[in-house]
Amino acid sequence: MLLLELKKVFEVTGQSLDIDGSLPVSELEEMQPYVTFAAPVAVKGSVKNRAGVVALDMTVTARLDQTCDRCLKAFEREYVRGFSHTLVTSLANESDEDDSEFEDYVVCPDNKLDIGELALTDLMLEMPTKVLCKEDCKGLCPVCGKDLNEGECGCE
Ligand SMILES: [Zn+2]
Ligand SMILES: [Zn+2]
Repeated sequence: MLLLELKKVFEVTGQSLDIDGSLPVSELEEMQPYVTFAAPVAVKGSVKNRAGVVALDMTVTARLDQTCDRCLKAFEREYVRGFSHTLVTSLANESDEDDSEFEDYVVCPDNKLDIGELALTDLMLEMPTKVLCKEDCKGLCPVCGKDLNEGECGCE
């Protein structure tokens, strides 16, 4: 958990806070049991109050242990993704407005934000549903099981 205390940023125009944290692998397993992290996830960025609007910009860097869906080869891959959100303390006053406008809004109850959880949620939405070791992976022969990236096997 990387908890940010944002009271001052919400209250003072022009105020900003730098983010430079990392989530240890032990915590990641708890938060995201469906993927295997090869290294701590790094979260860097800033939260800034611009004319009363609080904007979060961050870059999330993660190394994952993955398995190719086609040839079953195991490999490590690094993902570096940038995310931006508008932070608000509540949505209560805006409930009559169009929901779609608030897609990128993140509510921070008590002026606090768990940036670690948000970073992981954002990152998982960016993950491809199909994991391939390379774009044009040929996969395994359904007959003999040979890795066709290493050459033809001679099966029909
Ligand atoms: Zn593959
Ligand atoms: Zn074959």
